[in-house]
Amino acid sequence: MSAIGKGARAELKGQRPSILWMTGLSGAGKSTIANRVEEALWRCGHHTMLLDGDNMRFGLNNDLAFTDADRVENIRRTAEVAKLMLEAGLIVICSLISPFRRERMLARQLVGADEFLEVFVDAPLDLCKQRDPKGLYARALAGQIPNFTGISSSYEPPEAPEIHLRTDMHDVDALAEQILDVLRRRGVTVCGP
Ligand code: ADP
Repeated sequence: MSAIGKGARAELKGQRPSILWMTGLSGAGKSTIANRVEEALWRCGHHTMLLDGDNMRFGLNNDLAFTDADRVENIRRTAEVAKLMLEAGLIVICSLISPFRRERMLARQLVGADEFLEVFVDAPLDLCKQRDPKGLYARALAGQIPNFTGISSSYEPPEAPEIHLRTDMHDVDALAEQILDVLRRRGVTVCGP
């Protein structure tokens, strides 16, 4: 056990550690908004970390595929890493499809209620297919990617997310501001628009 607690580490950083858990379909806008929020927080002097589903899968989770069981393990490991970073005093932004309610709940339960914000990055499936920023829907629809969320694997939308972002209705700046507003009200940042 470390003699220095998470409160002491956070105090040194002068910030209130939190986890922002961004969930949504591929192409909904999670990474785009996560990057915008991280940049705003960084400009304001906050120490942040972005855990992106893709990056996690390159390294720590490169033994996992996209079966339901592996998706569950992907979320579990990412949540545990986020928790360690939270204890290090950071504001952690997790950007993962994280399709299942149960695993998002397990991630939430790893940390304090006031330390976790679930952000539903919401866009209709048809719009995500049109955007298809990585060409993944085209490949999934051609049968080249098994277990693809929204096509051949299910997505369970959050029932009570702290923040609900409609990326079909608002631009990235407005949505990032919606998150920053909640962080200001929670006392995580005083970062202005
Ligand atoms: P995800 O991380 O959810 O898979 P990405 O952020 O990688 O999604 O891709 C979303 C795509 O949609 C990007 O090309 C982005 O420029 C575009 N986009 C258009 N409007 C929005 C918006 N309002 N919010 C977020 N992304 C948007």
